[in-house]
Amino acid sequence: MNTDLFVDAHPTQCFSCIVNNCSEYKSEVIDNQLFIVGTKPKEDKKLCTFKRTDRTNILSSLLLLYEQLTDGVYGHPEKLTGADIERICKWCIAYGMPAEASGDADIWMKYGKVGFLASSFVNRLHDIYTCYLLWRKVYLHDTDIRNFYVEKNISDEQCIEFLKFHMMQLNIKLAPDFSVSPPTFFLMCDDLLEVAKAQLFFECMSTDSYSVGVCVACGAPFPKKRKNNTLCEACQKTKYQRSREKQRMLKSSEQ
Ligand SMILES: [Zn+2]
Repeated sequence: MNTDLFVDAHPTQCFSCIVNNCSEYKSEVIDNQLFIVGTKPKEDKKLCTFKRTDRTNILSSLLLLYEQLTDGVYGHPEKLTGADIERICKWCIAYGMPAEASGDADIWMKYGKVGFLASSFVNRLHDIYTCYLLWRKVYLHDTDIRNFYVEKNISDEQCIEFLKFHMMQLNIKLAPDFSVSPPTFFLMCDDLLEVAKAQLFFECMSTDSYSVGVCVACGAPFPKKRKNNTLCEACQKTKYQRSREKQRMLKSSEQ
């Protein structure tokens, strides 16, 4: 088989997964564990495909969500505040149920509920965010000391090893699609969190133009667009305000 053709013919940066969409999400303690449960399903589970053009929306929004959660929630789901839960639920309403890990399916079997374990969601999000920080250090030559790997002055070689270790746990399956001729296939992920990690994997495969941007004003991750590739959405909105303030400061320092 000609591998060049293989890569050309298949959308290697396009991932699919089955997504549950609900109109409402809330936290619920089931069997002494905190779950986020979806109610009022909008439709049946459906196969969603994330193409190259929209490939970073899921990823960037999850990275941003992680930054907005209370510090130290990794490994400590009891630290999640009401505001954290609200943020997670808001994300779910916008994008769908993020986690469908098999362990969480127990509540479906036992109680007929659709949801995911808050602790495993936070831990998987932490794993993706760790990859993102490593990617920033290795690929963007990050100098921001808020980045753990920059602050601890960990070498690029070591960071590459860490990144490889995290990425090797990526779980993508090939699902043949015989509905078209010649047959093609989907790169199937278990859920949206896995799609986000796969998208980050392809950011690492990219050699020049990355899709995830790091805002020059506040350092937040955002999906790069042709029109805007330096500022996140929030800073884009306050751009003129900030430049006016800067001018004012310059003026007052001149006087
Ligand atoms: Zn910003």
